Amino acid sequence: MHPLADTLLPLPWHNRFATLGHAFHTPVAPTPLRDVHWVGRNEAFAHALGLPPDWWQSQAALQALAGNAVMPGSQTLASVYSGHQFGVWAGQLGDGRALSLGEIETPMGMQELQLKGAGLTPYSRMGDGRAVLRSSIREYLCSEAMHGLGIPTTRALAIVGSPDKVLREETETAAVVTRVAPSFLRFGHFEHFAAAGKHEELQQLADFAIAHHFSELLTLPTGPQRYLGLLQTVVHRTAALLAHWQAVGFCHGVMNTDNMSLLGLTIDYGPFQFLDGFDPAHICNHSDHQGRYAYARQPQIAFWNLYCLGQALLPLIQDQDATVEVLDGFKTIYPAQLDLRMAAKLGLQEVQTGDHGLIDSVFRLLATERTDYAIFWRRLSQAMAAYAQSQHLSAWDSVSDVFINLEAWHNWRAAYLQRTAGEDLRQCAKTMLAHNPKFVLRNHLGEQAIAQAKMGDFSGVATLQKLLSAPFDEHTGFENYAAFPPDWASTIAISCSS
Ligand code: AMP
Ligand code: MG
Repeated sequence: MHPLADTLLPLPWHNRFATLGHAFHTPVAPTPLRDVHWVGRNEAFAHALGLPPDWWQSQAALQALAGNAVMPGSQTLASVYSGHQFGVWAGQLGDGRALSLGEIETPMGMQELQLKGAGLTPYSRMGDGRAVLRSSIREYLCSEAMHGLGIPTTRALAIVGSPDKVLREETETAAVVTRVAPSFLRFGHFEHFAAAGKHEELQQLADFAIAHHFSELLTLPTGPQRYLGLLQTVVHRTAALLAHWQAVGFCHGVMNTDNMSLLGLTIDYGPFQFLDGFDPAHICNHSDHQGRYAYARQPQIAFWNLYCLGQALLPLIQDQDATVEVLDGFKTIYPAQLDLRMAAKLGLQEVQTGDHGLIDSVFRLLATERTDYAIFWRRLSQAMAAYAQSQHLSAWDSVSDVFINLEAWHNWRAAYLQRTAGEDLRQCAKTMLAHNPKFVLRNHLGEQAIAQAKMGDFSGVATLQKLLSAPFDEHTGFENYAAFPPDWASTIAISCSS
């Protein structure tokens, strides 16, 4: 271990997951990397976590977040989980390259820190335990982009790079992302024990999750009712998360049950993509040949994944009918959540009868026209601001510019103006500008920052981090980051390889 380890200021480690015992994880130390350097540092988040600046700025912190030094008080471990991958039971998976450092007490509550790409674990299977710079930058930027958009997500504190070689389709270099969340528990953690018939451990895990992450359920009587309450909460959070994803045009790309957070967070950033042109059938994962995880299928897949979780919790809930009823709640919660999100994008203060039709028709309009999703919504917001002032139809010209079939757009606009006629249009515009981002992490923006970073210039990463952490702000002078994607963007192919 690095000699600087001893000089690190102690952090308030708790290691709560470690107390669960060896059925749940294996203690494992990170594997050091050579000649490490910072690639990205999230100052604002470090501050929010209450990390002492002396700690954060030290060489020792760099070494610790590279996995070259174990921090005093932290118990490093890899957890075991299983899961369904692409709809098929895959058996045991586990943290193959993520290493938990334990939990620290922060002003944001207890937060778990993980190093992703810190070397082999007992769950690495055929993998090398590493992550490449390219995918680490994508995870780092997208975690913070999602947070900036107000979407539940795991966070990213830093990326450390190293010249150490990692073999993928070509030779790349290694990096480690420090990611942070109240918990990294996945649906797959529960599936793991249920599939093995280990009901005691299953219950232990559910009790742990409830005690630490769903304490509102502690008022329910112990036993089946409480576990049903757990499932119900996860159904609700997952439905809310999916509504966020669909509304912002986010494709996750690998919605396997081991990539589904129990807390309803966006987790495991791989071949994700924010839509450019609106195409419901868009598949962002080059390895997803069937289109199982296409954009428009995501809510249905979330529902399928929740069924896997429900099945796993059944030995604790002990009531199949009640389980199915709670799971089926998704079918009403998700559409209601989506309407809420879309109403905000339209500047509506509440969802009224008939609004669903307006929302449905805008999706259809955008799909037929393959309109650029983010640009349409941002221009619509700005047009509303102008229209609120002038009451003149020319205020919508910049939106007309993104359509070929002007008649279809004008028809939809007429319905929209009728709906907003009684509203305070200034307020509408304000709501819209706060819900329709100017900046999203389009694939080509990420690719440009990655290409620069590979040459040793990390300024592109820092610029994107700044823009994406406040995506609703104008950031005058950075218009090219909010522009239409270049033609080559549609040729970017991102697979599971990371
Ligand atoms: P993912 O598709 O990234 O969610 O990964 C699925 C499973 O493969 C998880 O158990 C990961 O920990 C594991 N895995 C992915 N990449 C690697 C790698 N390079 N080394 C070891 N395990 C990996
Ligand atoms: Mg994963």
